[in-house]
Amino acid sequence: RSALHSLISVENRADFDLARAATESRDYIVETSSGAVLPAAITGSRIEGSQDVIFVFHDITDRRRAERRVSYLAKHDGLTRLPNRMQFKHLLQQALARAQRDATLVALLYLDVDRFKEVNDTFGHSAGDRALEILSERLTAKMPQGAVIGRLAGDEFAAFLPISGVSDRGVLAALSREVLTDVSRAFFLNDTEIYLTLSVGIALSEAPIDNTIDLIRSADVAMYHAKQSGGGTYAFYDPQMSIAAVERLVLKSKLRRSLELEELVTLYQPLVDLESGAVVGAEALLRWRLPGHGDIPPSEFIPLAEQSNLIHAIGEWVFRRVCADFAAWRTAGAAPKRVAINLSLRQFGRPGTVERIAEILKEHNVAPSVIELEITESTLMEYERSGPVLESLAALGFRIAIDDFGTGYSSLAALRQMPVQTLKIDQSFVHRLTEDGDNATLTRTIVELGRNLGLEVVAEGIETTEQRQLLALQGCHLGQGRLFGAPMTAQQFQERLVTEKPESPPTIRFSA
Ligand code: C2E
Ligand code: MG
Ligand code: MG
Repeated sequence: RSALHSLISVENRADFDLARAATESRDYIVETSSGAVLPAAITGSRIEGSQDVIFVFHDITDRRRAERRVSYLAKHDGLTRLPNRMQFKHLLQQALARAQRDATLVALLYLDVDRFKEVNDTFGHSAGDRALEILSERLTAKMPQGAVIGRLAGDEFAAFLPISGVSDRGVLAALSREVLTDVSRAFFLNDTEIYLTLSVGIALSEAPIDNTIDLIRSADVAMYHAKQSGGGTYAFYDPQMSIAAVERLVLKSKLRRSLELEELVTLYQPLVDLESGAVVGAEALLRWRLPGHGDIPPSEFIPLAEQSNLIHAIGEWVFRRVCADFAAWRTAGAAPKRVAINLSLRQFGRPGTVERIAEILKEHNVAPSVIELEITESTLMEYERSGPVLESLAALGFRIAIDDFGTGYSSLAALRQMPVQTLKIDQSFVHRLTEDGDNATLTRTIVELGRNLGLEVVAEGIETTEQRQLLALQGCHLGQGRLFGAPMTAQQFQERLVTEKPESPPTIRFSA
């Protein structure tokens, strides 16, 4: 035994091998002569031309602390200090394995704050963070011993606890009621009294639910049902709860990651001059390329995004993407006159959105006048709310179009007040145009209405030459639809612009 051995702490001493320590560096716990116990890296190096070895002890207390900090941060949420999603799942998995071994069950509570978005929008993000902290403190205080609480995402929390069997449902219901009452106590944020309520979904690991993914998903579905019944309540998972709800939830959680995974793309549908067939612009149409699911249309995921803050991120992403594509077309010498972007007015619920969009355009050196913002007729009907936003967008120089015109109930009087340049005839009228006399009247009426108001009219969903000719005869100058091109990638659109450029004089003429 060397003198070195006596420096190594008792627990580590058996591992210490002098010959090995002379050639490789390893970490040990050492005890100094003054009695201090600390972690140290011991490195041995042979002195040249001799059999002697010098051992260097390096105090690694700081390094160990940093390593612990890093591993803590990787497993915990920085704001609430609760286990994060990954760590929570990991702990849940261990608890499930234990329960299976002991023939007991695990109960999972999925907790989601009701209308949390409003807190963020009204009081700002730091107040929102504070609210989440308070919430997590209350949850932690209320949950029984043995329960593990985690923060899964934004305003979503979860807790699991071991239970002896399904007969514990009553206990869980009572616990949920207690938690709901406790977290809904008022607190103050910036001198304002705030009440938060939660929706709680509960699932048990009873057969066939035997893994973390199914358990979390089931509790999430139950939470969704609690939310549907107005929030501030709890619901137990029941296999009868609809498959559709499951699918929505799965999509919603995947949508969150679509942006970072670069799964979103914008396709462009050419906007053409109905007489000449020349491409004058494009409409940007969003697609979600979810691996394994193919392209998911916006009608399925925009409503999901609108239920959360995601719509803001997605909306800004679209602006950034379109501006970058426009800049690329311009570099290729083929910039179209205009590009249309669809907007959900919910995107503007957050202060500063208009300014941020203006900033994005500036970054790419794109003039607002080449961008046309499409807003659906039904959204415009909430003009009270959308008015100021539209005014400020128009003031920046954006063109504004009413999308799906004819499907809502906008009055002429309302139309006159709005800063609008374009009406887009809904494709349903165009589709029936050539087979149904009434619809021919309808499209003609819309075209005339547009002309009277000094607006441009675009017909959507043109699929046949017949439709194109009729619309042109009615005085509609612009259109889009599969006849001229289905939505295509930015690259394909650029190729189309480049090849079309030389033949700018109109090639086809219709006479009235
Ligand atoms: P929209 O603005 O009325 O878009 C026109 C829709 O008609 C597009 O569907 C387009 O692919 C489809 N279409 C084009 N030509 C034809 C045709 O000849 N025949 C038929 N049957 N359909 C045609 P899509 O891409 O599924 O978009 C659906 C809606 O989703 C859009 O309706 C728009 O309101 C919304 N949307 C699309 N992109 C975005 C976006 O970036 N943000 C927001 N908020 N909404 C978007
Ligand atoms: Mg549109
Ligand atoms: Mg439309």
